[in-house]
Formats: sequence, structure tokens, C-alpha cells
Amino acid sequence: MTDLLNGAEDEAFRQEIREFVTANLHPGTRDKVARGAPLTREDFARWQQCLFERGWVAPAWPVEHGGPGWSARQRLIADEEMFRQHTPPLPGFGLKMIGPILMRFGTPGQQARFLPGILSGDDWWCQGFSEPGAGSDLASLRTRAVRVAGGWRISGSKTWTTYAQYANWIFCLVRTDPQAKKQQGISMMLVDMASDGFTRRPIRLMDGTEEVNEIFLDDVFVPDDQVVGEINRGWTYAKALLENERFGIGGIGRSKHLLQRVREMADAAGRGADPEVADALAAFEIDIMAVEATTLRLLNAAEAGARIGAETSLLKIRGTEIQQGLTELMLEVAGPAALPERESEGAEAPFENAAYQFLNWRKLSIYGGSNEIQRGILAGQVLGL
Ligand SMILES: Cc1cc2nc3c(=O)[nH]c(=O)nc-3n(C[C@H](O)[C@H](O)[C@H](O)COP(=O)(O)OP(=O)(O)OC[C@H]3O[C@@H](n4cnc5c(N)ncnc54)[C@H](O)[C@@H]3O)c2cc1C
Repeated sequence: MTDLLNGAEDEAFRQEIREFVTANLHPGTRDKVARGAPLTREDFARWQQCLFERGWVAPAWPVEHGGPGWSARQRLIADEEMFRQHTPPLPGFGLKMIGPILMRFGTPGQQARFLPGILSGDDWWCQGFSEPGAGSDLASLRTRAVRVAGGWRISGSKTWTTYAQYANWIFCLVRTDPQAKKQQGISMMLVDMASDGFTRRPIRLMDGTEEVNEIFLDDVFVPDDQVVGEINRGWTYAKALLENERFGIGGIGRSKHLLQRVREMADAAGRGADPEVADALAAFEIDIMAVEATTLRLLNAAEAGARIGAETSLLKIRGTEIQQGLTELMLEVAGPAALPERESEGAEAPFENAAYQFLNWRKLSIYGGSNEIQRGILAGQVLGL
């Protein structure tokens, strides 16, 4: 597909990324990503280690905290090129969510203690925001923390916690002032998942995997130095974190990778020249370019010092609509070939993960704040309606 980022300098940078990936990415992982197969902790951890050793693991972090010093343009190129070379997208809970929040709101002690483990992958983080009664209306959360000597004791439950089975730390939103207005009585705490009173139960999803979990906290002790920023200001930190999350979910590299896979499948199914399929693929390509241009514009503005906030909702909506639309087209071109002939055998290459990916990616329009909620944010905060 057409690259917006195609100057001579861009090409030299692209080449550097390409050579690094070719030399370092484990072939087994590469193959899984290329086929859209589910990935294991080992796939992620092995690749994170390579990037960490090269100093490229946290493209958006400032150099003083371990970032590579790339421009916004270089970050987009690296993301795109890595996807093109079938690298696994590293989960963002540490690198894109709590890491930047600790840089902005954490104490120097918390930064020194937690940032190195996030970079190296020695610590794996997960996100404890949603609860059984608090998803879209996150401020209704009921997990509470009660003051005790030297810290807090948390009781309650969290749900939909992605990759908690791999994690050793979780950042949680908890209610610390039940009397205050609901957004004002919330704090953010860092919880060691090996603490007494902490349990996890996997949730089986319709795609057959167990990617998410329920979490139960029964009087779990959290020392004062694991509270982020000020008590009762957690809502402010959560909003900043969710805006970062939405930037990432726009996923240009991921969309281009998927578009390429759908093209290959259309060719394999003998439908590459089918005008209906060709039209649909061209429309997706144009949409991806539009999201890429918008992302670049917002990244450049952020780099020039502008505060990007609710606008990231736009990237989340369009990016996830494109990706879900592509998985729908993928199923359409695969047709019956996406179904295994016998359950033990699986479907034929290159269609073998089409059904899994279609089912798995229904989540994109739900997590990170559902797309309906993003439309509400855009209407209120960007359009001023
Ligand atoms: C696969 C997956 C992984 C996830 N991972 C995590 C994680 O790691 N950590 C975490 O904390 N959470 C996680 N989540 C939770 C996710 O953030 C919530 O599911 C999401 O915020 C929606 O909340 P809910 O499921 O309670 O749905 P609800 O809030 O009950 O919403 C149900 C429906 O009503 C619509 N709706 C609700 N309110 C409004 C409104 N005001 N206007 C218009 N429409 C509305 C919603 O869009 C949705 O379609 C994950 C979810 C999924 C599916």
C-alpha cells in the first residue's frame, strides 16, 4: 500500500528497523504473527528482550527514562515496519499506560523502582479498572481501600483483566472516599499480585482463549509508597492513562498488516480480482491513510507542546472500525475455508486463524472505553455539542 512516510531519510530508518528485525525476531513468533495465531507470554517476552537490549523498547518514552529519542514520524515508521515484518505487538499496560503515568505523576522513588522493570520486561503489568458494575460508567467502581497504619487495605473485585495470568503487578482504581462525589473519591494504587488476599480466575472467551480474568482482592495490603500521586486524585490520572491507551489503539501498523493478510487471503481464494473485494480493499486502504495522516498531525502537535486529549477518541473509533471491518472481509473471502473440516485438524492455510481473529477482535470496539462512549466524548469535548 502507499506509504505516506517515504522520504529518503524515512527509507534509511526503515531499512535499519528491517535489518534489526530480520536478525533478531524468533522465526516461530514471526510465523505466528504472520498467520494471525494467538501468542504466548514467551513470544512477547523474547521480543521485548531484543528491543530492550537495542534500546528500542519504549519508542515514546523520553531519553532520560530509556526512550530511543525518535521523532513522531520515526515512531510511526518503526511501528509500521515492525508490523510489516511480523513482530508481536507488545502489550501496552506497562510501556504505554502505567509507565508514562508514573513519569508524570509518580514520585522519583516510584520511577526508580518501577520504570526499569517495565522496560526490561522483568515486571509484567495489568490494568485493574473495570468491575462487574463499572465499565463504561467507570466512576461507579466499588472496590474500596481503607486506611490502616502504613498504607491501605483493598477489598473488592475487578474484571476483564487482560493478561493477568502473565502479570506480577496491577494498577488499580479504588474508592478511598465513599462520601465524596463519585469521581472525586477515587485513588490509583500499585498492587503486587503476590500479596496475601489476591486471587485470579480466568474467563473463557468465544474465541476459545482465556485472555482475560476476574480478580478478587480480599483485604490486600498496599503500602503508602505504592499510591500514585495524591489520594482521591485517581480520576485525573485514569483519564490521562486512557487517552494514552486510545492513541495506541488507533494502530496504523496493525491495520496495514491486516490489510496485507486479507489481500493474500483474497488471492488464495481466487477473489483478488473480484470487483467487490477489490473495491472494499481500496476503501480500507484510503481509510487507513486518512487515520495515518490524522495520527501524524496529532503526534506532531503533541511534540510541539500541544496537549492532545479527547481527540484520541477519534483515532480509537476509526482505527478499530477499520480493523474489525477487515476481519469481517477476511471471513467473507475465506468463506467455508475458515472452518476446520474436522475440529482436530484446523482450517487450511492461509485461512486457519481467520475465525479466531474475527471473534477475538470484537473486543476492539469495547475495550479502552467502548466506541459509543468515545462518540459521546467527541461530541462533548471536541465538538462542544
Ligand atoms: C477483551 C476485553 C479486554 C479488556 N481488558 C481490560 C483490562 O485489561 N482492564 C480493564 O480494566 N478493563 C478491561 N476491559 C473492560 C472494558 O474496558 C469494558 O468492557 C468497557 O469499558 C465497557 O464496559 P462494560 O463491559 O461494563 O459494558 P457496559 O458499560 O455495561 O456497556 C454495555 C453497552 O452499553 C453501551 N453504553 C454504556 N453506556 C453508554 C452511554 N453512556 N452512551 C452510549 N452507549 C453506552 C456500551 O457502549 C456497550 O455497548 C476489557 C474488555 C474486553 C472485552
